Amino acid sequence: MRLSQMLWVTLREDPSEAEIKSHKLLLRGGYIRRITSGVYAYMPLMWRVLQKISWIVRAEMDATGAQECLLPQVQPAELWQESGRWETYTKAEGIMFSLTDRSNHKLGLGPTHEEVITAIARDMIRSYRQLPLNLYQLQTKFRDEIRPRFGLMRGREFIMKDSYSFHSSEASLKETYSVMDQAYCNIFNRCGLKFRAVDADSGAIGGSGSQEFMVLADAGEDDVLYTDDGKYAANVEKAISLASDLVPSAFTEYQKLLTPNTETIAKLAEVLKCSATQILKNVLYEVTYDSGITVLVLVSIRGDQEVNEVKLQNELVKVAENYQGKAVLALKVPDPESQKAWSSQPLPLGYIPPNLDDAYIAKNPRVNSKFLRLVDQTAVDLKDFVTGADVANYHVVGANWEKEFPLPKLVVDVRKAKAGDRSVHDPTQTLQTARGIEVGHIFQLGTKYSKAMGATYTNENGEEVPLIMGCYGLGVSRLAQAAVEQSYDKDGIIWNVAIAPYHVIICVPNVKDSAQMAVAERLLTELNQAGIETILDDRDERAGVKFKDADLVGIPFRIVTGRSLAEGKVEVVNRATKEANNIAIEQVVDSLLAEIFPK
Ligand code: ATP
Ligand code: MG
Repeated sequence: MRLSQMLWVTLREDPSEAEIKSHKLLLRGGYIRRITSGVYAYMPLMWRVLQKISWIVRAEMDATGAQECLLPQVQPAELWQESGRWETYTKAEGIMFSLTDRSNHKLGLGPTHEEVITAIARDMIRSYRQLPLNLYQLQTKFRDEIRPRFGLMRGREFIMKDSYSFHSSEASLKETYSVMDQAYCNIFNRCGLKFRAVDADSGAIGGSGSQEFMVLADAGEDDVLYTDDGKYAANVEKAISLASDLVPSAFTEYQKLLTPNTETIAKLAEVLKCSATQILKNVLYEVTYDSGITVLVLVSIRGDQEVNEVKLQNELVKVAENYQGKAVLALKVPDPESQKAWSSQPLPLGYIPPNLDDAYIAKNPRVNSKFLRLVDQTAVDLKDFVTGADVANYHVVGANWEKEFPLPKLVVDVRKAKAGDRSVHDPTQTLQTARGIEVGHIFQLGTKYSKAMGATYTNENGEEVPLIMGCYGLGVSRLAQAAVEQSYDKDGIIWNVAIAPYHVIICVPNVKDSAQMAVAERLLTELNQAGIETILDDRDERAGVKFKDADLVGIPFRIVTGRSLAEGKVEVVNRATKEANNIAIEQVVDSLLAEIFPK
């Protein structure tokens, strides 16, 4: 390939639309072009990178025995209604693009493919003899993200590899899950990424065990907590830890005290000269279920702890049936506007007790008349605690469960683990924090979809039972950008050889010099014939411009047909190390073969 014939446009300046380095570099290098919010064109160099990653993914998937297929992007609403996800995906999270066809059928653009694959399995898998099975595809996914950003990191149209496995036993699912775990590690290692596998929340996809693969980078949108012994790592959404020790309370007598201006825990602890661990904080949430019913939720938690809203949402889904619902449409801290819609009188905000009277909720057929009261497990142990007195500027001290306040029946774990907490597996280890980019997510789904959609098979005993499923996602386009986020310098991208768009770029300092051009042409042919993917910068530009561009796009090796030609040599520069060597023309192919495909 010759640069003079390519659509090759690089930018000197950082584009204003980009915030993080990898996004800036991909735009500047001409790899991607933004078409609209979260939607990008992959230009030829980018497409080569994406293809390389796809090949690695395919090789590792095929090695596990999985089979490639291609499922439709246009999916009928009926399938999503069967699984119960149509409302959540099109309304609550609103992540699915939906449309209506000319005969008034509702359709969605695939954000993921559990429904489609389960419908296929329902029709095609009849017997345990067909199991286990694992199918995968590489495809463009559509998600109407609330905040598309950072280029390919969070797009509304992006490339994913997704696989779905089917089993006749939990043991078989676990076996495939661990094979996939290993395949994912192989993929990320081959792409040259520094990553960490972490325990993850299963979210709206559902199911039991799940693990995410995080590429470690400060620009990541996820928080990871881990221990230095390497035995524990989890997404903060899922992480568990030991809470700090409870400091015994000095308030032995139950009393109501005037505590003006103590809306926050910090101020209250200061005024009462007590530890935040002795304070019971009561946090109000407003949850709306898919049944249309809104429930006011009061979470009682230790003052020194925060509520993990992902864990809270999972608890609220478990009790959805009590409110005629299946899914949570929205969860938020009430704001003044939404309070107007349900409160009968102003709330004692900052001074709320755990037994806040249900009379605060005005009569409204769409609002549950009682608070749903939850207590975090660490708050159950509190003795002689401090909490709100139900009137502004007052708190009570020396309170006890079942004496002054009934203990809520629902005891849950909704506490947010944080850096510095002691680890559950070994309390001498403290949790450390890092930022990560989620590039993969593997799930043990179990029978969630097969049960909902009636995908059964006949087992060895002749019984009709639901298929046990696993699913495994990998963000191909996100991975490509994550690789850049982990590997660049002041001059541009530094691709790992395995996923670089080309291995070598030949820069001809002076295209009018026929000797330089002749050597360049000869090397272009020889290198490509040897399997070294090479492009030739034959543009009529200054050498300095060419070198800058070569560094910016990050091709691993640069050959310069410059001064050393006089001695029958060319200069070979390593992009990552900037190391330059003069190598005899006839040795260039062998020397680069050894570098690019080491034995
Ligand atoms: P996130 O938490 O980042 O929104 P997710 O948990 O919704 O992602 P999955 O449903 O697990 O994502 O999708 C599998 C993989 O697809 C993710 O691990 C990620 O690498 C990739 N992915 C998900 N959403 C996007 C997106 N909007 N743009 C690019 N890649 C994405
Ligand atoms: Mg995920």
